[in-house]
Amino acid sequence: MPVNEFDLVVRSRRAVVPEGEKALAVAVRDGRIAGLSGYDAPLDARETVDLADVALLPGLVDTHVHVNEPGRTHWEGFASATRAAAAGGVTTIVDMPLNSLPPTTTVSALEIKKKAAEGQCHVDVGFWGGAIPANADDLEPLFAAGVFGVKCFLSPSGVDEFPALDPGQLVEVLHRLAAIDGLLIVHAEDPGTLTDPLGPTYPEFLDSRTQDAELRAVERVIDAAATTGARAHIVHISAGSCVEPLRRAQQAGVRITAETCPHYLTLSAEEVSSPAFKCCPPIRESANRDTLWHGLATGVLMGVVSDHSPCPADLKGLTAHDYSSAWGGIASLQLGLPIIWTEAQPRGYGLADVAKWMSAGPAALVGLSTKGAIAIGNDADLVAFDPTAEFTVNATKLHHKNPVTPYDGRRLTGVVQTTWLRGQAVQGTPFGQFLLPQNRP
Ligand SMILES: [Zn+2]
Repeated sequence: MPVNEFDLVVRSRRAVVPEGEKALAVAVRDGRIAGLSGYDAPLDARETVDLADVALLPGLVDTHVHVNEPGRTHWEGFASATRAAAAGGVTTIVDMPLNSLPPTTTVSALEIKKKAAEGQCHVDVGFWGGAIPANADDLEPLFAAGVFGVKCFLSPSGVDEFPALDPGQLVEVLHRLAAIDGLLIVHAEDPGTLTDPLGPTYPEFLDSRTQDAELRAVERVIDAAATTGARAHIVHISAGSCVEPLRRAQQAGVRITAETCPHYLTLSAEEVSSPAFKCCPPIRESANRDTLWHGLATGVLMGVVSDHSPCPADLKGLTAHDYSSAWGGIASLQLGLPIIWTEAQPRGYGLADVAKWMSAGPAALVGLSTKGAIAIGNDADLVAFDPTAEFTVNATKLHHKNPVTPYDGRRLTGVVQTTWLRGQAVQGTPFGQFLLPQNRP
């Protein structure tokens, strides 16, 4: 019986490689990218897919997803989250340590989470651990058990089981992590600058969480990273005023990176129409968005990740319309790619920029050296993406567990047609794997 040289060949006139868009044939063998040839190259493969002008992107890497299972599985779970991820072109997620129960602050909690996720994952999954005041001695074992880093809060997290670190504890944790070259990721809002909202409206909520609260916390993390020599990463930058201090710190050699999210780049306070838009830090005035885009363009912000943090509709306060009591968190895992593409195009960016922000950047953050790019030797995580097709978001048709998203009804450009994980189209039986750090940058 003849044996084909390759398992799969995907041809596209718009294949997105690190250097830009090229007309390529991407050849896959044993789950890896085995060859890159000209679009028309004769190749012997068991299956050939010709995408013509539909783009071929590297699978997205979303390092900021709250799956919530076990414990709050009715908010989101591994089956629904990873199915949504695959439908959105995301082939790797890294799960946040909180909102699930128990939170991932010990090795045994990590094992409980892995057990809950086993057999359910449609994409590859890695895990963050958590740093809370009580678990300093658990951090090194968590890294040894394979977390990509640990997350902490500097202000209340929203759930009692995941308390914040005070300034002294932040430095102490960074000292410990410096010794093992472990990454700390930080929700940066200064508790002393945050206030209680004066009322239930969105402007009152926004006033309670100012740019200044973010800036002060970011400056504290920069200082602590500089004095300890540890690696720190700020999650979900919302305040444009943080970009310049981050740039200066990076230029000075401080080991600090930062991400932003689709909602901060594409939504504005002026258009907030329901608590589906509530998140912390909040969506700010439209002028702020330009600063964040500039931060991305200049590389101060390393990428765009979802911060997918859903909850059931009743907790989202959709009927009471009370922004002070509604759960803060935005569901967008399945939509990140078209959301960003829709806004990136009129700003003059191309698919290669989007791939850098949503695949290569996050892969580099967590040291996943075989993901994040269409390159020989990498995992064949691939996405067929029609960059010209349009659709209207219908929250009830998404794979997210709960049909609540601020993008409901929005017209977006760009449709994911097929997602391949390690060379296999994602459909039906889940075959996602748990990921361990490959190398630390
Ligand atoms: Zn989050």
